[in-house]
Amino acid sequence: MFIDSHCHLTSEQFNADRDAVIRRAEDAGVHAIINPGTDLEDSKRAIEVAEKYPNIYACVGFHPHDAKKAKDKSLQEIEELSRHPKVVAIGEIGLDFHYDFSPRDVQESVFREQIALAQRRNLPIVIHTRESNSETIAIVEEAVSSAAGWRSDKVVPHSRYPAPKGVFHCFSGDVAMAWRVINMGFYVSLPGVVTFKKADLAVEVASNVSAEHFLLETDSPYLAPVPFRGKRNEPAYIPLIAEKIAALQHLSVEDISRITNYSAFRLFGIGEEDAARFTYQLRNSLYINLTIRCNADCVFCDRKGEAVIKGHNLRIDREPTAEEVIAEIGDPKKYEEIVFCGYGEPTIRLDAIKEISKWVKANGGRTRLNTDGHGNVINKRNIVPELVGLIDAVSISLNTTDPHQYGELMRIDGEKFFPAMIDFAKESVRLLGKVTMTIVDLDDVDKEQARLLVENEIGATFQTRPFF
Ligand code: SF4
Ligand SMILES: [Zn+2]
Repeated sequence: MFIDSHCHLTSEQFNADRDAVIRRAEDAGVHAIINPGTDLEDSKRAIEVAEKYPNIYACVGFHPHDAKKAKDKSLQEIEELSRHPKVVAIGEIGLDFHYDFSPRDVQESVFREQIALAQRRNLPIVIHTRESNSETIAIVEEAVSSAAGWRSDKVVPHSRYPAPKGVFHCFSGDVAMAWRVINMGFYVSLPGVVTFKKADLAVEVASNVSAEHFLLETDSPYLAPVPFRGKRNEPAYIPLIAEKIAALQHLSVEDISRITNYSAFRLFGIGEEDAARFTYQLRNSLYINLTIRCNADCVFCDRKGEAVIKGHNLRIDREPTAEEVIAEIGDPKKYEEIVFCGYGEPTIRLDAIKEISKWVKANGGRTRLNTDGHGNVINKRNIVPELVGLIDAVSISLNTTDPHQYGELMRIDGEKFFPAMIDFAKESVRLLGKVTMTIVDLDDVDKEQARLLVENEIGATFQTRPFF
């Protein structure tokens, strides 16, 4: 199931066969399509199409090409249209300095006015930018930063409304620019360009930015992916784009579809939130979410927030029994690994780990424990000997080599827990063999020192994991 977050179904290129195009999209697993508006008339047409089909949604707004047509009255009409229940965003809006179909100063002022409109209406914005990345980002940054203090007592110079949010559609910047956009709370969406032969920038972004920040789009009827490049594009081609992004992310197409659907749900309110899960699949491994309790409280952890990992909702309101987990696993041989890893510290439930892994091993599966390495402190004894024969591999979050920084990152007593974690790692290497230690890819953590400690002193494998 996919969402095409940007498709101009109202384009005249679809006049002859719009129904068939929509049917083909459904057959290809596209369960929702968002149709952006480009001017007042096109926004009205987008709403008409959305009214006709339950799974089609509309955006309303003036494209930068048409900014010169956006008079005060027509912007008021856009605001009125935005109250329609099928309207999910203001867009597409932005700047296009490639064609300059509208004067640049007019594009900029209409863009600003539409951002303010979206803030008033609490709707996301869909941004178009071409040869104007820095000017576009500067305007969005200005809106984000002037909204940031809206709760403070310095309300007067600030906007009364929350910061704008949205998506940079057809993203054409590099990785650094993607992060600038993401750090403002925005998504990036990559069209079929990512499948083109000479698409270095898009491929770099799709490989190096975690998939949580992406939306899928075709931008039909333009930019058809390979092998349809140069022909009319249509929403049924979304799987071709998803396949390419999945390959670059080392994830499955199902993972990419679930992750991007969740992002579309968060941004546009389309679809449903996943039910909380005791077990969840990523690639070809099955993960076990035994608890969301933890002895730590890492600054980068979203355990107390949405607690969603790669589109899976892990915000369980009770902990599963070992029997429930075993029933959900079914045949463990179907998976590469059964991994104890949820939004909490699994060794808090040591008995359940032992019971489940004993069953997995007896039924021909492989097991991995992902842990903060505090299991011995939590259980008040050396638990590693109890895992022999049950756990095939262990991944431990090292986070940093400095006990003080460790304490700050995890909001625990670093002087106590850091050495306990190192002891746990050494004991795991000695008794279990296969141990990986990871650090989050943060600038102020010394990665080289961490690698030396892991490889030379502990004898484990070193890995960095992205911060997101
Ligand atoms: S140890 Fe893991 S589960 Fe616990 S707070 Fe840190 S990141 Fe979250
Ligand atoms: Zn568009």
